[in-house]
Amino acid sequence: MTSNQNIAIVGAGYTGLTMAYYLSKAGKTVSVYEKAAEIGGLAGTFTVEGEQLEKFYHHWFTNDAHIMNLIKDLGKEENILIRETRTGMYYAKNFFRLSSPIDLLKFSPLPFFSRIRLGFVVLAVRMVKDWKKLEDKSAKEWLLGICGKKGYEVVWEPLLTGKFGRFADKVSAVWFWNKLKLRGGSRGEKGKEFLAYYKGGFASLAQSMVDEIIKNGGSIHLNNGATKILTKDNKNTLVLEKGNEVNADKLVLTCALPQIAEILKESVNDEYLQSLKKIEYIGNTCLVLQLSKSLSETYWLNVNDPNFPFVGIIEHTNFEPVESYKGRHIVYLSKYLPTDEPLYNMTPKEVLDYALPHIKRMFPKFDESWILDFHVWKERYSQPVVVKHYSKLIPSQTTPLPDVLINTMAQIYPEDRGTNYAVREGKIMAEKILAGQF
Ligand SMILES: Cc1cc2nc3c(=O)[nH]c(=O)nc-3n(C[C@H](O)[C@H](O)[C@H](O)COP(=O)(O)OP(=O)(O)OC[C@H]3O[C@@H](n4cnc5c(N)ncnc54)[C@H](O)[C@@H]3O)c2cc1C
Repeated sequence: MTSNQNIAIVGAGYTGLTMAYYLSKAGKTVSVYEKAAEIGGLAGTFTVEGEQLEKFYHHWFTNDAHIMNLIKDLGKEENILIRETRTGMYYAKNFFRLSSPIDLLKFSPLPFFSRIRLGFVVLAVRMVKDWKKLEDKSAKEWLLGICGKKGYEVVWEPLLTGKFGRFADKVSAVWFWNKLKLRGGSRGEKGKEFLAYYKGGFASLAQSMVDEIIKNGGSIHLNNGATKILTKDNKNTLVLEKGNEVNADKLVLTCALPQIAEILKESVNDEYLQSLKKIEYIGNTCLVLQLSKSLSETYWLNVNDPNFPFVGIIEHTNFEPVESYKGRHIVYLSKYLPTDEPLYNMTPKEVLDYALPHIKRMFPKFDESWILDFHVWKERYSQPVVVKHYSKLIPSQTTPLPDVLINTMAQIYPEDRGTNYAVREGKIMAEKILAGQF
């Protein structure tokens, strides 16, 4: 391996940028190609009152060590913000606080015995020593066994359906176990939840990586996605949307697997292409409201009411102070959904009009005049659907093409996608390239 090895990375999300940062820091020449107009990928942002705000709500758990280490490597620790958050649930026209074990015991929609059984889930999560043993169970089967029908139907089923829509019953117990493990690990004394954010938003951290990459001699190219890879005499050429071609000693693809299949379709055989299409993804529609008044005191509200069309209401300014956005209260209404569903295909105004009566029903004091501005963001590949025996569906990081590698959020299993794991995987792959293992 030569020290001036030239590495091209497709995708300027957290995986691609982390990899480019560590490779460039070690002296490699890196270039990142991104089809969107901005960096950040799923953690990308837009401007609200001069401040960068995530298109899709984002926070970290306090035990997200990989992201914290990246921030330290960048010398930006002073930007980490850790705050106590308030979590709640909306069920049968009522709000319930669910931030601590005591809140759980007071959760009146369930008979007392079912509340205790709900608490057993915490124990069951801790008792899992080998997640592989959960691989042949669905989340539904696993949760029914622990907390019974009532607890499952009231608490977990609406969340699973809200997150995975028609795929809900197929979701693996491993996915659910991991989610609960992570959330449980972000608790302080008396079980209170603490979450972390970054001064200036996730874009600010992504920008710090970009600044370092450029300082180290690398380059970032926006609005210029990859369309295909041509391979001749064991050498790869990346062809870009704008028609230019890039020769690279190594090529790393960090976008979603169906997008990778599209890029590789002319250079690999059909059997391999099909193997990249085995994992299904679900999309997300996020309505972001900028309000003159606050909706509630809760940061994270899980909606367990099947008649409410969004699974979560996240009042971001109950986490990051409203002053950051010049007094505007920021509220996200999130819905995960297959992209053939009507809500995914509505115009922004249609999404707002669709949501308004439901918001009024939930928050009777809310008035449309509170809305100062709104945005609707959509993402086709927002979450891989983690089914039973998912480990068998994950493609290898190497491909049939020499020196073409894959590093995507669908390969993070048994962990679920998240910027912490994008950073972990980006750094690990950079280290392996540097060590000549790829
Ligand atoms: C609703 C929602 C809420 C979330 N909340 C959190 C949270 O609270 N905390 C957290 O840590 N994570 C959260 N995540 C997950 C997190 O955003 C992702 O796990 C992470 O950003 C993935 O980074 P990535 O670089 O692997 O992929 P991506 O961010 O998807 O980056 C891939 C990039 O590749 C680009 N691309 C695609 N095709 C091409 C092409 N042909 N050529 C060039 N570029 C291409 C894309 O535009 C994109 O920028 C959330 C995600 C969603 C959808």
